[in-house]
Amino acid sequence: MKPSIATVCISGNLTEKLEAIAAAGFRAVEIFENDLIAHPGSPAEVRRICEDLGLKIITCQPFRDFEGLPEPRRQHALDRAERKFDLLQELDSDLLFVCSSLSPEAQGGIGRLATDFAELGSRAAKRGMRIGYEALAWGRHVSDYRDAWEVVRRAECDNVGLILDSFHIEARGLDLGTIRNIPGDRIFLVQIADAPRLQMDPLSWSRHWRCLPGQGDFDLPAFMDALLATGYDGPLSLEIFNDRFRAGSARSVARDGHRSLIWLMDEARKRSGRPVPGFDALPAAAPVRAVEFIEFAVDESGRAAFENLLGQLGFARAGQHRSKEVSLWRQGRISIVVNSDKEGFAHSYQITHGTSVCAIALHVPDARVAIARATALLDTPHSGAVGPGEIDIPAVRGLGGSLVYLVDDTPSLSRWAEIDFLPTGAPDQSIGLEAIDHISQSMQYEEMLTWLLFYTSLFSAQKTPSQAVVDPGGVVQSQVIESGIADGEGLRLVLNGSQSHRTLSARFITDFFGSGVQHIALATRDIRATLRHLVARGVPMLPIPQNYYDDLETRSDLPTEDIEALKTLGILYDRDEKGSFFHAYTVALEGGFFLEIVERNGYAGYGAANAGVRLAAQSRIATPDVIEGL
Ligand code: MG
Ligand code: MG
Repeated sequence: MKPSIATVCISGNLTEKLEAIAAAGFRAVEIFENDLIAHPGSPAEVRRICEDLGLKIITCQPFRDFEGLPEPRRQHALDRAERKFDLLQELDSDLLFVCSSLSPEAQGGIGRLATDFAELGSRAAKRGMRIGYEALAWGRHVSDYRDAWEVVRRAECDNVGLILDSFHIEARGLDLGTIRNIPGDRIFLVQIADAPRLQMDPLSWSRHWRCLPGQGDFDLPAFMDALLATGYDGPLSLEIFNDRFRAGSARSVARDGHRSLIWLMDEARKRSGRPVPGFDALPAAAPVRAVEFIEFAVDESGRAAFENLLGQLGFARAGQHRSKEVSLWRQGRISIVVNSDKEGFAHSYQITHGTSVCAIALHVPDARVAIARATALLDTPHSGAVGPGEIDIPAVRGLGGSLVYLVDDTPSLSRWAEIDFLPTGAPDQSIGLEAIDHISQSMQYEEMLTWLLFYTSLFSAQKTPSQAVVDPGGVVQSQVIESGIADGEGLRLVLNGSQSHRTLSARFITDFFGSGVQHIALATRDIRATLRHLVARGVPMLPIPQNYYDDLETRSDLPTEDIEALKTLGILYDRDEKGSFFHAYTVALEGGFFLEIVERNGYAGYGAANAGVRLAAQSRIATPDVIEGL
């Protein structure tokens, strides 16, 4: 199948769109009528631009309100089609895209509609053109692909075929079984869109909420499984109407689009057990086993204060890099790398972002396979400068230009600490922090779907429905991604983005000069004991108002003395059907980064119930109450 994309998916003028589409590796495109009409050049010039970019124009769509009209409107519609044939021929396309009629004048009846298509088909045949018919979910008389197929079948013209659009089928919850019975050569085009499950009218849902495969809730691999059964081998074309994409970067959305189709074809191959024509299987996706380490970029002047904070948090300085200004800090199963070297990736990252997380390292079953998969998915691999005998840990570019390192059990990668670091012999200083519970990344609202797709296509991962969290400065959308947590530590990620410029998440992006890790949650089995240590060591924790605890008394099952203990230490509480959750926050470092301490007792969430209280407490600290010296 040939990956394709409609120009309506992305931002910009027609030329910019076509350039972005070609740069993303597409070789086929659907031109949306409005983009052509708004273009100052002739259709022949658009055809030349496409030829120069190596793009084949599949169609210029749509052609509306054709079928079921009474005379003389019917004759007029046939004449309109001839003008559209002229245009398509100028564009070197042979496919007229007819969507089902919305016209109040149109009459129904499969036989009547089939007669109209038979006549249109015979006119098209004289000019070497084909006709494709798509059932819109809100079509006046045809809103179901099975009816559209019946019209096409009864038209009895080889050059009249069906157009399938996954949105119109999945939005109406139509049975996919009939697709399997349609001969693949009678399907002239397949349009692909995903969408979140929303309770709204299909037209608004379609116009604003379509998204790329893997970003929404539709079972597109099931749709593709049915499609593969037909033997279809034509274009697989993205048709996405999405407000975020219209506001986002054309090149980024086009590349995400191509990535999503590669991911989808691979999912379809796995689901159906059939090869996808013209598509090679991807290296397998695997779950993340654990966060291997987190690397902070710190400059020389900030290093002492940052390392002092790590000491207060109970980390021991376990290693010193053999050739660089890099130290390794450990507590429980947590490894933190502090990089203040004057050269290399971390240094340039620090110059832009200040003290920050410049890389996260993830433990996967096979790092080589994961990099091969990333490359096939159009991600950007990274290789850094390494000294003699040091490890070059494979990496891929992540959010905001940060790195995602990939480590596995092979001797060369699993021994990264021993190979690159000299042990200091520093004694254990644990205050009970054992593991990384979750990592929270803040980004522009328009970027959220990009990074959702990045993680869920690269790893075997699950996403939970996006949640809205209220910040005093506006609403923050929060998207959870989890990988490998059923089998062990795994990876828990929270992606945050907001359209308001006044939320904590948005201010972080401004202060940080880009998207990045805003907080890391560290897990303890006894949060009260850990917090007592932190308070005694002078780590500034976020104060929580008395009202929160008064409210906790009225709504929770906790004994009063427990609530008193939480209040003393500024600990928040939540529970779900699986268990309880206690969490507390440090105040922010300069730039807005902070830490969370969590005690998770079977609980599956992230304390969203407390997010409003936490965000209000953080916003009261107008300029972040900077931890001494940072
Ligand atoms: Mg469509
Ligand atoms: Mg958190």
